[in-house]
Amino acid sequence: MSPAVFRFAPSPNGYLHLGHALSALINFDMAGASSGQFLLRIEDIDRTRCRPRFEQAIYEDLEWLGLTWEQPVRRQSAHFDDYRAALARLDGLGLLYPSFESRGEIARMVAERDAQGGWPRDPDGAPLYPGNAHSLSVKERAARMQSGARFALRLDMKAALARVESLSFTETGAGPSGETGTLVAQPQVWGDVMLARRELPTSYHLSVVIDDAVQGVTHVVRGRDLFFATGVHRLLQALLGLREPIYHHHRLILDEQGRKLSKSTAATSLRALRKDGATPADIRSMVGLT
Ligand code: GLU
Repeated sequence: MSPAVFRFAPSPNGYLHLGHALSALINFDMAGASSGQFLLRIEDIDRTRCRPRFEQAIYEDLEWLGLTWEQPVRRQSAHFDDYRAALARLDGLGLLYPSFESRGEIARMVAERDAQGGWPRDPDGAPLYPGNAHSLSVKERAARMQSGARFALRLDMKAALARVESLSFTETGAGPSGETGTLVAQPQVWGDVMLARRELPTSYHLSVVIDDAVQGVTHVVRGRDLFFATGVHRLLQALLGLREPIYHHHRLILDEQGRKLSKSTAATSLRALRKDGATPADIRSMVGLT
């Protein structure tokens, strides 16, 4: 049997904090317990927010914690061609369309619909795409794209769902309401989700799914805040013919106000704690691992 493959996939847009430590350590421990592999992946598609010094700090902090990982490390910014190829496949299936509204236009449309009785939000609290770019003619789409207008490439959720059988996934951790076991994937809660933009030929959802497949990841172990993203991930896997990993969503580390830790709160960064004299063993116990 081929070994189980786990991964920790941070974005180098800030210093790692206790929440990242928990996720990295759970992945590392689970890989160790099953004689599996532990991969580190740098999710740096957002070139405006990612910085080399944060990437360097990821390596240093994880090494300090006592983790070791397989080489080479996959850095998403080196694989835009893979994401373009996946987009081209989805486009070939007729499942993508460009939308051209600005943020301001979208906000106005949402406000109008809210006033008319409400408009749905996605699991992150953002309004679903309210526009009707879907019905632009092929000619008009091409003309606008060629004119240099900004656009987002969206997945036609209805058409995508019509192509797949009912989708499920195996959850060995738990969702926010304790969901576990064999679960129904619900990509529709994201509406016509954005998969790329004019200036960026990918998105979090697309890159994660492609990379997990390319790297042979068998166990996706990550924070519960990403539980609902699994619906989109399962849909993309089905559309692109990719193998389905097992999912395990773990608890989050919350601050005193009960909010998820953020990279901007310096106090819980591993750097700051280490500077204050914490040891790797202290970090383990601070995140509730022994
Ligand atoms: N890069 C994502 C993050 O830092 C994690 C991606 C994943 O585990 O699916 O939140």
